[in-house]
Amino acid sequence: MISNPIPWPNGAKCAVAITFDMDADSLIHIAKPDDAHQRLYPVSMGRYGPTVALPRILETYRKFGLKQSFFIPGWCLETYPETVEAILKDGHEIGHHGWIHEDPISTIGNQREWVEKALESHKKICGGKPRGYRAPVYNITQEVVDLLIEHGFEYDSSLMADDIPYLMKSAEGELYEMPVHWGTDDWPPFAHFDEIGYLMPIRGPSAGLQGFWEEFDAQYEAGGFFMLVVHPFLTGRLARWRLVDQWIEKTLDTHDVWFAPLEEICAHVKQLKSNGAYTPRIEHLPYYTEPQR
Ligand SMILES: [Zn+2]
Repeated sequence: MISNPIPWPNGAKCAVAITFDMDADSLIHIAKPDDAHQRLYPVSMGRYGPTVALPRILETYRKFGLKQSFFIPGWCLETYPETVEAILKDGHEIGHHGWIHEDPISTIGNQREWVEKALESHKKICGGKPRGYRAPVYNITQEVVDLLIEHGFEYDSSLMADDIPYLMKSAEGELYEMPVHWGTDDWPPFAHFDEIGYLMPIRGPSAGLQGFWEEFDAQYEAGGFFMLVVHPFLTGRLARWRLVDQWIEKTLDTHDVWFAPLEEICAHVKQLKSNGAYTPRIEHLPYYTEPQR
């Protein structure tokens, strides 16, 4: 079902990553820059992520001995330093997620400035360079891909061209892709955020999560890669996270899976490639250099 499955460490059947994008209230500040500071409701909805959900999520990961990946905008690193400290103290990975959740498309012409501003913030607060990047709203551009290569990033996690990690090559060099897709993102089932243009009918916790577990079953059967892209202020809510916690426990008990941060999954694939044990599929970039009419 997957034409070139990746051999996972210790014969595990599937690599699993539950990745969080800790956007907090950056979403309302970038959407309504003039008056977001007066809008207490969306600010409070975002703040729930770093202040209430994150401690809960970290507790689950500690209980099961898991290390995972968090993508955090630079502005959020600066605004919620205690949360960042707790994430790093537990040994998790933090990746680059823009400065204040700006859509890269909206910064065309100034993409370097925005990417590097967040990068400097990351180095200052996290004490090292990020290995991975996820574009706000997945909107990575060719210029950002090339900036990531220039700055020595190992991987991106914003694109959708395969079920399993693959390699992207451009004139600037290469970058691994840890692919996302909307079926494993909690925005469609759980986001209800009129101010930024999302009015999804919220699904109940088990109904909203059910699609994720079916995605896992298919990836597991195919020996693939299962990654959730979720948000603390959505999936870190009490009833939803309780079900995720139960799913992790059951999956660890009954399945042969490799839970790992994306940087480790990427390093594993890179290692396999360098010793000739595996050849990742390659996507050549850019896809297009001019409008297609
Ligand atoms: Zn985000």
